[in-house]
Amino acid sequence: MNFTLHLTADCNFACRYCYEKHTPARMDERTALAACELLFSYGHRKNGFSFFGGEPLLLKDVIGLVVHNCAEKAAKAGSSMSYQLTTNGSLLNEAFLRLADAHGIRIALSHDGCLQDEQRLLRGGGGTAALLEPKIDMLLAHQPNAVAMMTIEKRNLPRLAEAVKWLYARGFSRVNTAIDYRPSVDWNDDDMAELGLQYGELAVFAAEHFDDERPLHYLNFESKVAAYINGRRCIECELGMKQPSIAPDGVIYPCNQFVGVPEFAMGNVFDGIDKAAQRRIYEAYRAPEPTCEGCALDARCRHHCACLNFSMTGDMHTVPPVQCAHERAVIKYADRMAELLYERKSPRFMRVYGNTEE
Ligand code: SF4
Ligand code: SF4
Ligand code: SF4
Repeated sequence: MNFTLHLTADCNFACRYCYEKHTPARMDERTALAACELLFSYGHRKNGFSFFGGEPLLLKDVIGLVVHNCAEKAAKAGSSMSYQLTTNGSLLNEAFLRLADAHGIRIALSHDGCLQDEQRLLRGGGGTAALLEPKIDMLLAHQPNAVAMMTIEKRNLPRLAEAVKWLYARGFSRVNTAIDYRPSVDWNDDDMAELGLQYGELAVFAAEHFDDERPLHYLNFESKVAAYINGRRCIECELGMKQPSIAPDGVIYPCNQFVGVPEFAMGNVFDGIDKAAQRRIYEAYRAPEPTCEGCALDARCRHHCACLNFSMTGDMHTVPPVQCAHERAVIKYADRMAELLYERKSPRFMRVYGNTEE
């Protein structure tokens, strides 16, 4: 069983594309411990927490409490724990990274490469690039495979490839990018044409660095290639069943974008998951989705993401047009990368996807 712990809606940054409604809400220790209790009440052999915000490192003490409590519980139960944390990085320090090392907390850093100062601002104004420089060194020294998660604003789209290249040159081997999915952003056909150019450039770049001593994993493309080769969906969403979200006040929701939406509440950490509500939400989610019926890209497309659909259209089944256009572009250029790799018999590509000897 896994839970996402929304430790706080508060943040010390004011990124231009942030969709979070910042409030001072913070999870208290009693709620965090009740979440641990609930996690272990299912008796599963493998459990996990994702620490999420706002900025989760504003609550380092609560994170410490959770991992120590879970370590005791896991030792007694003979089960394992895994952790993920997504952070803006500003509050990383050696003590926290040692805690992360000791408990296997995998850290993903939100960073926009060469666009950091333009897109990711301090709350009081001003860029954050200089602040992040020593934090990047610290993080990569502890977790060389840490993922850099970048978001691109519409106005900066022509610099997407440049920003990914920056992150790779800075030492990140695993990079994931997203476009600014706020409903207020008017992505148009010209933007999608530009996106194609950027992904085209990235297909060549990712192929060039696929077999480097420090290989580049451009996760947007690699997930699509894996979904094609393995014949599995690139995301298997079981909304609310495998990884519910827990709000700072302990109320449980099916996933991140539903936090705070009363009709999607499905229990709380003190009384447990409301199974009837959980089932009702899941059944509604699994209802047939006419929009994508017959599309050859079905299995490789993220149209299943109820969170994204809901946040953009207010309905978990309605795929926003920008998502459809984006997915078509990313799949097209993931395949371009794969063709380039296949043509030159890339050792890593053939090993991972070709089932052949290096
Ligand atoms: S760091 Fe994350 S939560 Fe904070 S303002 Fe930026 S996008 Fe929003
Ligand atoms: S709704 Fe989206 S983010 Fe949530 S589990 Fe499903 S695919 Fe993942
Ligand atoms: S969102 Fe578009 S690309 Fe994706 S499965 Fe549906 S129709 Fe196909």
